[in-house]
Amino acid sequence: MTDIVTETNNGAALSVRNLVKQYANADRRVLDDVSFDVPKGRVLVVVGPSGSGKSTLLRTIAGLEPIQGGQIALNGTVIETGKPGSEKAGRSARSSELRTHIGMVFQSYDLFPNKTVLGNIMMAPLLVQKRDKAEVEREALELLGKVGLADRKDAWPHELSGGQRQRIAICRALILHPEVLLFDEITAALDPEMVREVLDVVIGLARSGQTMVIVTHEMRFARAIADEIILLEDGHIVEHSTDPERFFIEPETERAQQFLRTFE
Ligand code: ADP
Ligand code: MG
Repeated sequence: MTDIVTETNNGAALSVRNLVKQYANADRRVLDDVSFDVPKGRVLVVVGPSGSGKSTLLRTIAGLEPIQGGQIALNGTVIETGKPGSEKAGRSARSSELRTHIGMVFQSYDLFPNKTVLGNIMMAPLLVQKRDKAEVEREALELLGKVGLADRKDAWPHELSGGQRQRIAICRALILHPEVLLFDEITAALDPEMVREVLDVVIGLARSGQTMVIVTHEMRFARAIADEIILLEDGHIVEHSTDPERFFIEPETERAQQFLRTFE
């Protein structure tokens, strides 16, 4: 079974093959036969109307939801295989060690309110990865510097703006050194003046070679950052473009043209 992915992934960091997702007590598939590769160091942007399955796709890749068909592989190794009838399982059977290889930042990432900024960032590497405390603190401070928040290391989450909280959430994901980082509309809940500071951090990550899958409604950002772009609708890939510039100027499908017009 492993061969299905390793034969076809061409050295991709992340391979999704024929993914099927159905929620318990639902009569239709939310994701149906979704396949794509993300090469190491590249950025895949996923766009699509509300309800098309974007968040579900990221959640299955992150191992937060079991899948009912298909496979997910990381660097050619299958980490998840779909099992028909697994709808009711709380989350996938992936080990907690494997989980740390894929990071995810959500639309409203609630930091732990009873921990400082530093405490939030240091928690998973200390508890899950059992890393050395001094080393983890050093790295946390370095990451805070990179997102422009070194001076807020002792602040409490409630003292931060939404944009600052999202930048901390990104640090919290980065300190685990994920092979792939998933972003689900991370600026959607922010006031407009804070969107830029968060997107700039993501653009910096792309330049540094971080492999990412990004779901966003910010089309200008998508155009600027995407190496490849997927339009999802009703759980199907409607268009997959390896030329994002072209996708935004003259998409191939009528559906993509319609979708893009809603942003004009
Ligand atoms: P998007 O992120 O593109 O808006 P979602 O992945 O959130 O789409 O949702 C895709 C579909 O799956 C929608 O029809 C939604 O109602 C349904 N859905 C999402 N989460 C659940 C759930 N936990 N249980 C049942 N249905 C769900
Ligand atoms: Mg969503």
